[in-house]
Amino acid sequence: MAFAEAVKKAGGDTLDLCYQCGTCTASCPSGRRTSFRTRQIIRKAQLGLKDEVLKSEELWMCTTCYSCVERCPREVEIVDIILLMRNMSVQAGNMAEAHKKIGANLLKIGATVPFGEDMKKLRSNMGLPANPPTTVGNQKAQDDLVKIMKKTGFDKLMGGN
Ligand code: SF4
Ligand code: SF4
Repeated sequence: MAFAEAVKKAGGDTLDLCYQCGTCTASCPSGRRTSFRTRQIIRKAQLGLKDEVLKSEELWMCTTCYSCVERCPREVEIVDIILLMRNMSVQAGNMAEAHKKIGANLLKIGATVPFGEDMKKLRSNMGLPANPPTTVGNQKAQDDLVKIMKKTGFDKLMGGN
């Protein structure tokens, strides 16, 4: 049960409150289309099944829509628990490819979603500056962001250089 204790210590102290009613699974839009079952992953965490949770593909299938959190009768902080287990999974060397690609975008262009010419044109047509006032339109901010990511080792986690 060391894993369950670690999850609780890392901020998931509501883990024990789950009584397996299944409301989260019934509310989950991701689970409707995938093998992800919210109730099940929470139960596995309660039982301390570290490898089954941290190495599972399902851990990455939550879209963080919070439908489950809004409906949980026990006020289990389901999304916080999933996110902190993802952090643990990354520390153990796992990360879903799709998430890695998004992180790599952040390294490369300072944004999670590529910002192309069509978007610039659309903004201009609407009377807005072509570049948004984010890292996309501010080279210094983008450089600073990359520095932070390199300093914290984020670039290595993304397989970048
Ligand atoms: S809705 Fe809450 S109490 Fe019910 S199974 Fe999900 S996490 Fe557990
Ligand atoms: S936050 Fe995640 S687990 Fe909860 S309902 Fe949305 S996709 Fe499912």
